[in-house]
Amino acid sequence: MASLLIKNGRVLSPEDNLDGELDLLVEDGVIRQVAPRITARVDETIEARGHVVAPGFIDLHCHLREPGGEISETIETGLAAAVAGGFTAVCAMPNTRPVNDSPEATRTLVEKARRVGLARVFPMAAVSLGSQGESLTDFATLVAAGAVGFTDDGRPVKTAGLMEQALERAGGLDVPIADHCEDPGLSAGGVMNEGPISERLGLRGIPNSSEETCVARDLDLAEATGAHLHVQHVSTAGAMEMVRTAKRQGIRVTCEVTPHHFTLTDEAVAQYGTNAKMNPPLRSARDVGAIIAGIMDGTVDAFATDHAPHAPELKQKLMSEAPFGIIGLETALALALTQLVHPGRISLAHLVVLLSTNPARIIHQPLGRLTGGGTGDITIFDPNLEWTYRATEGRSKSRNSPFDGWKFIGAATATIVAGKIVYRRS
Ligand SMILES: [Zn+2]
Ligand SMILES: [Zn+2]
Repeated sequence: MASLLIKNGRVLSPEDNLDGELDLLVEDGVIRQVAPRITARVDETIEARGHVVAPGFIDLHCHLREPGGEISETIETGLAAAVAGGFTAVCAMPNTRPVNDSPEATRTLVEKARRVGLARVFPMAAVSLGSQGESLTDFATLVAAGAVGFTDDGRPVKTAGLMEQALERAGGLDVPIADHCEDPGLSAGGVMNEGPISERLGLRGIPNSSEETCVARDLDLAEATGAHLHVQHVSTAGAMEMVRTAKRQGIRVTCEVTPHHFTLTDEAVAQYGTNAKMNPPLRSARDVGAIIAGIMDGTVDAFATDHAPHAPELKQKLMSEAPFGIIGLETALALALTQLVHPGRISLAHLVVLLSTNPARIIHQPLGRLTGGGTGDITIFDPNLEWTYRATEGRSKSRNSPFDGWKFIGAATATIVAGKIVYRRS
């Protein structure tokens, strides 16, 4: 019987009304006891004084690239990056080659991840076959195979008609439809945010309207169907306001934002080049302000990395030719602490809600808690640890990050999945 005792940490689980210096005992992968000064004979002890002991972090949005993109990431390297960033579980997007649109592909992914034995993988399967936007995948068998939601990420669900069908079918299964909201016609080959900076740099812009028209479409359909819509990587002030209003109206909508969208503006493109090229693009200072306001007032439900690894030979190209996306699993917690918690914008408890409690709810998993009898998925982090991020020292197979060389305050120190220590910061 494997047992682990975590001593003297600040146990912080908003869902369980826990916030205090407590010990936590995990046996056989299950949390047995949370109490002051537990004495028990155990296999392993972690001294966590000065650290926060939180329910395991769940990333609702990452790209593991396997199968088909192993040059940039594998399930193994992606999950190694995940646990180093404090994530005990990740939702893998379906835009691999081939696309995850079949129960076999979903099962293979889950089984491979289990063999790797680091973070859990909860697949999001494709909404449409091949994510081509023509016909729906078989939602029921995909859910039975392990899918926790559906998305055609990388692109939006193509038509309003298909989106309506998807919401109706997902509603019956009680899983979310997650959408990458974009109107390709309005994006029209753009490579960065449309505005004064894109004009100055002479680059094609992607207007805010590209995201907002799609969010408006999806919210209308969520209202009509009563199904759960999850808006991925919200990046504009207008989209944030629409989600806020929809929530007030009782529409079943949740949303995520990425650390890069609450940290950087489109000015970063001039400095970081293709490592600041992502979709949706980095936006204006006004949009970043609205994203942060949405985080602070609870409109934003979750942080998600949109970890999008690309090998150097793919990413080191002209702005117009490089693929969209940056890696993010190993910097998400540090960016949230450094940009939001330490400046007093959100509390540590709110951070845990955004990284664990709410993501667990959105994908309907019995996680995000530290309650007796619950799963022993735990993230321990030092909110005050000062360190410098070096992409070359990361566990991801790729290096495409604008945050290379940035100084951060706060890092994961131990990541525990089902009672097993899968990462320790040395
Ligand atoms: Zn996307
Ligand atoms: Zn994505």
